[in-house]
Amino acid sequence: MSQDKIDVKDVTPKTFNPKAHKEQGDRFNPNNRIYVRESKGTFQKLRRYGGWFLLLLFGLIPWLPFGERQAILLDIGKQQFNFFGTTLYPQDLTLLATLFVIAAFGLFFITTFLGRVWCGYLCPQTVWTFIYIWFEEKLEGSANKRRKQDSGKLTPQLMWRKGVKHLAWIAVALITGLTFVGYFVPIRELVVNFFSFNAGFWPVFWVLFFAACTYANAGWMRSIVCIHMCPYARFQSAMFDKDTFIVGYDTKRGESRGPRSRKADPQALGLGDCIDCNLCVQVCPTGIDIRDGLQYECINCGACIDACDQTMDRMGYEKGLINYTTEHRLSGHKTKVMRPKLLGYGAVLLVIIGLFFAQIATVEPVGMNVLRDRNQLYRENGAGEIENTYTLKIINKTQQAQQYKLSVTGLDDVSWYGKQTIQVAPGEVLTLPMSLGVNPENLNSPVSTIQFILSDSEQFTVTVESRFLKNL
Ligand code: SF4
Ligand code: SF4
Repeated sequence: MSQDKIDVKDVTPKTFNPKAHKEQGDRFNPNNRIYVRESKGTFQKLRRYGGWFLLLLFGLIPWLPFGERQAILLDIGKQQFNFFGTTLYPQDLTLLATLFVIAAFGLFFITTFLGRVWCGYLCPQTVWTFIYIWFEEKLEGSANKRRKQDSGKLTPQLMWRKGVKHLAWIAVALITGLTFVGYFVPIRELVVNFFSFNAGFWPVFWVLFFAACTYANAGWMRSIVCIHMCPYARFQSAMFDKDTFIVGYDTKRGESRGPRSRKADPQALGLGDCIDCNLCVQVCPTGIDIRDGLQYECINCGACIDACDQTMDRMGYEKGLINYTTEHRLSGHKTKVMRPKLLGYGAVLLVIIGLFFAQIATVEPVGMNVLRDRNQLYRENGAGEIENTYTLKIINKTQQAQQYKLSVTGLDDVSWYGKQTIQVAPGEVLTLPMSLGVNPENLNSPVSTIQFILSDSEQFTVTVESRFLKNL
């Protein structure tokens, strides 16, 4: 047997920065909380305004009325989905599927172009986490203060502050749960019934469930969701290329890093522009050190850019040591914005959006199904006619009561037994049993193709094909 030994290889990441990790603790251990320091600057303003805009949309949409109903109400119980006056039924759900495909390709396009900006600026996990951190900051103080307080004794004053913080978190969670469930059940009734303890079991269950998820995700789990649970973080690398805009640290300019006085000449000291103040790490919501290079935990929020720009300002250096950049730019190459992958995603996105609007334009205001009686295929009636029985199911998809007229074509001299003019309430599915009678002399074959025609007051017609049978 060969006595050759396998060489031991050091696989420690070359960019590992012990200082940053020591300060933050093991960031993959859920017990080690990340104390996020508040960051101020251009990108944080952008993030805050974007977050406020989305929050307002999320909170106000369920309260918007449209006609007699809620503008957007996804009524799962009744299987009706109302969007600003248009009611969609399960048979229209291809529209919803198209919407999901649009969202997916929109995300692919944005990620290829701008990396994980969705995560950093618009993802509910980030927006709610920053709201929760805001309460923490206001009630318990800065990140440094919180870290010190938490490692010391729990004083009555701290207990009181923490208690108020948790109450505020719970209030935000409850509002979130109520608003979210308000997309599925009428929100006005839900809120009144919830606070007067008259709501049913399931609405209460779902409100509390989503409130608990909000409280746990934004209050406690935070970056753990982004790092360990979010599938998007895992497959984003498939969309990245060297021209994708990411948050990057300019190593050539920044290294070697080290503290120095403001008046000192870094070149004379053999130093780069990074003064190793560690601010970029302290403001990072996922607790990483961007100077270690591109990492999948980075959500492109730009907090480290703002923090570093402040340091650069203080030192009198040019801003942008950390910036939105591309791998190509960092390695001294030109960035190609218009590239086949991005154009491909954009083209597919445009085609699907076009398809979506074409689908919307063809959504019918009324639907009809024709079911033949399966127990008796035909019978001879008292008038000597061959009679076939059907059940018509008519859905009024509009938000007003409608009167419809029914007729049949395909055979001569057909007798209609049942109502031919019907009134259907908005959103109602009307079941109409009826039968057709035909003189046997007018039936040339055992199976005749017929068409049921429904027309509304605006001459909109729906035609459904069926069969008329006689003895074989
Ligand atoms: S490294 Fe910078 S951009 Fe990335 S998550 Fe941390 S603070 Fe945000
Ligand atoms: S904030 Fe800028 S200067 Fe400070 S450690 Fe980070 S990269 Fe270096």
